[in-house]
Amino acid sequence: MNLEVKDISFCYGERKILEDISFSASSGNMLAILGRNGSGKTTLLRLLLGFLKPDKGQILIDSRNIDEMTNRERASVIAYIPQSSQLVYSHSVLDTVLMGRAPALSLFDKPGKKDIEKAREALRTLRISHLETRSVNAISGGERQLVLIARALSQEARILLLDEPTSSLDYSNQLLVMETAEELRRKGYTIIFSTHSPEQALMNATDVMIISSHHISFLGKPIELIDGRILESLYQRKLCIREIDTGENQRIICVPK
Ligand code: ADP
Repeated sequence: MNLEVKDISFCYGERKILEDISFSASSGNMLAILGRNGSGKTTLLRLLLGFLKPDKGQILIDSRNIDEMTNRERASVIAYIPQSSQLVYSHSVLDTVLMGRAPALSLFDKPGKKDIEKAREALRTLRISHLETRSVNAISGGERQLVLIARALSQEARILLLDEPTSSLDYSNQLLVMETAEELRRKGYTIIFSTHSPEQALMNATDVMIISSHHISFLGKPIELIDGRILESLYQRKLCIREIDTGENQRIICVPK
């Protein structure tokens, strides 16, 4: 599935947020969006979901303008995964994942056998079937984030948008969530995530986008950031970026100098 963003601009009222944004992402891509607070990362995700309309430009999924899709059609191709801390209710894990089936149901339909099977399949994919009957309030933050990813999988969308997926998670849960996202990418999902962590963007993403002063100031492969200058100018800090062999694979790491 191919997402193409063509020259979009967006203002909140008179206030310019994004200008001339163009990029594309397709099956097997994992695109990290970096940018300082208030740079427009969440706004961009909301535009991709069709919650906001660009003032100019187009967003196409497999060459179809998302403006011309119904809400149900959009939900069948693109899913939003909020931060786990934003879950406010206390349904069971299975019921939460079943909510991902809602766009496929008619207004007064209850989820049927097929929907329950899809939800269970999503739980199996994320290896959290054992949590099925637990309340989402009685599991760890990392598990909760996996439940929200499972909800998106049960929606059957192939483009997954994650808004700071590891904020408020401990280190091991951060790794679990990012490794799960990488695994889905390898299965052919298109993953787009915003993050405040340059380490994560360099280590887990296939592509990195930096938004600053309303524009894309960098779009390329993590290795292109290796000399540090672009990230140093973004964060106003001296950084040390290296490619290392972990024994399992090559990873790029980033630490402050
Ligand atoms: P980020 O996710 O990069 O922190 P946001 O996309 O949330 O940035 O916000 C970009 C800018 O738009 C910020 O200055 C923010 O205050 C402003 N903003 C966000 N939502 C609204 C809104 N609904 N109305 C007006 N301004 C908004």
